Amino acid sequence: MIQNSISQPISLEEIKNKLTEYGLKATHQRLVVYDALQKTHLHPSAEEVYTLIHSDNPSISIATVYNTLDSFVEAKLITRVLSEEGKSRYDFNTHQHHHIYLCNTDEIIDYHDPELQKILTAYLKKKKLTNLTIHELQVHIKAEVINPKQKISIQ
Ligand SMILES: [Zn+2]
Repeated sequence: MIQNSISQPISLEEIKNKLTEYGLKATHQRLVVYDALQKTHLHPSAEEVYTLIHSDNPSISIATVYNTLDSFVEAKLITRVLSEEGKSRYDFNTHQHHHIYLCNTDEIIDYHDPELQKILTAYLKKKKLTNLTIHELQVHIKAEVINPKQKISIQ
């Protein structure tokens, strides 16, 4: 199942609690950056986050956005996703999922497929891996949108 909007954005109060839960002080810039991230769902880069927040928060610099995102990744509040160009993009959805990179629109969308997960896990179990523990299994699909006006779906 393809999902662009995983859940409703949480309130600033809930973001504060979440930051505290992950051991981060709920500073103004962290609240603003997390809020921007949870509202995009398209795995933005630091520059894109900066663009999203800049007009309402001109005092937050691009360096602050980078540092804030790094502190989120370090605290495991969000994850870093590498795009095709090797640029860091950020994902606030920390649940197990796969990604589809749309090379003609430069977007990364989430792909949830528990069946694929089960098949891959069973396949790797049969492979008898030695000296290796798999922490995460993620499929990265590179694709091209055929008709940008139509919705993308996988049945
Ligand atoms: Zn994702």
